[in-house]
Amino acid sequence: MKRFEWANPTSVAEAIDLLRSAPPFEDPDEAARPIAGGQDLLTTMKEYIQRPSRLVNLKNIRGLNRIEGDGRKGLRIGALVTLSQIEEHPEIKRHFPGLAEAAHSIASPQIRNLGTVGGNLCQRPRCWYYRLEEAVCLKKGGTQCFAASGENKYNAILGGGPSYIVHPSDLAPMLVALGASVTIAGPDGNRTVPLEKFFTLPSEGSIRRENILRHDEIITEIEVPASRFAARSTYLKFKERASFDFALASVAAALELSEDRTVRQARLVLGGVAPTPWRVPKAESFLTGKPITAENVAEAAKIALEGARPLAHNAYKIPLTQALIRRALHRLAEMNA
Ligand SMILES: Cc1cc2nc3c(=O)[nH]c(=O)nc-3n(C[C@H](O)[C@H](O)[C@H](O)COP(=O)(O)OP(=O)(O)OC[C@H]3O[C@@H](n4cnc5c(N)ncnc54)[C@H](O)[C@@H]3O)c2cc1C
Repeated sequence: MKRFEWANPTSVAEAIDLLRSAPPFEDPDEAARPIAGGQDLLTTMKEYIQRPSRLVNLKNIRGLNRIEGDGRKGLRIGALVTLSQIEEHPEIKRHFPGLAEAAHSIASPQIRNLGTVGGNLCQRPRCWYYRLEEAVCLKKGGTQCFAASGENKYNAILGGGPSYIVHPSDLAPMLVALGASVTIAGPDGNRTVPLEKFFTLPSEGSIRRENILRHDEIITEIEVPASRFAARSTYLKFKERASFDFALASVAAALELSEDRTVRQARLVLGGVAPTPWRVPKAESFLTGKPITAENVAEAAKIALEGARPLAHNAYKIPLTQALIRRALHRLAEMNA
């Protein structure tokens, strides 16, 4: 691990100032970084993947570790709220069940006790070439995505190119499905953006980053609006092993049903298959106005994966994701919401 300064701000303004005034850098992986639970950042630092000159510890900033609101008002979730807090929160379990499920699906209880929402959304990709110190891939300033023609079993089938990473966060697809927005604090004040517009594809913006955050900005809060579909939401994740693991594919789904049990609104967002949480609006529109039948669900799943372009070793993700979509939609139709 490279030597770094440790800074302990007690306010958001101080944290921004510490990020802004850190030593200049040429490589984005050498910029000062905010640290929350450290469950991802420290791993990348130990492997020399990120080499920040300064770490700005967010944990002493008051007020960012609270969950406020309920099913009627919607939720305000501070960036330092832990994954365990989300998983165990009674209002979330009752009115936003998919969000509690997504949090529960992450890693192990120990990691969920330390890992925060802000850190979960900003964690770096898990592609093994990216995580290998010696492999200087596109995302680390190299000229090639080694996964494109190499070992790509875990990589993207949608939205990939020129890098084929998949977005690793389990909270992100569910929060996008629930219409969440994110508040970002920076030197010029606060801005709030829909989470759907927070993440960037490798073909957009800088290939070295996965979102719109600048090096001197931090997430302070996530807002989840009250909606008619939040109570009928679910998160299904397929992992290669039964203990903690990242998603090979996942589905965040939510439905509002009419009294005649037809779909009034549908939200479907895929995880583990694209460099960002991957919303499938065409499949959502297909379901609108229709009952949840085996035929409609199968067609929606087919439509959702229409644009998939698998690499040599990951075509299995297409039927896998389709199966998850079908299961999620049937589960939602059976829920008492
Ligand atoms: C063994 C293992 C298994 C895991 N399994 C999963 C899994 O199944 N699903 C999953 O989603 N994750 C998984 N993770 C990743 C990790 O647990 C989560 O991402 C965790 O939520 C990270 O939060 P943190 O607070 O520890 O982040 P940190 O490590 O502190 O930070 C992560 C990144 O986010 C940035 N950051 C942190 N807070 C902010 C903020 N407020 N504003 C801006 N940037 C910020 C940091 O600079 C850093 O780049 C796993 C991790 C490990 C080690």
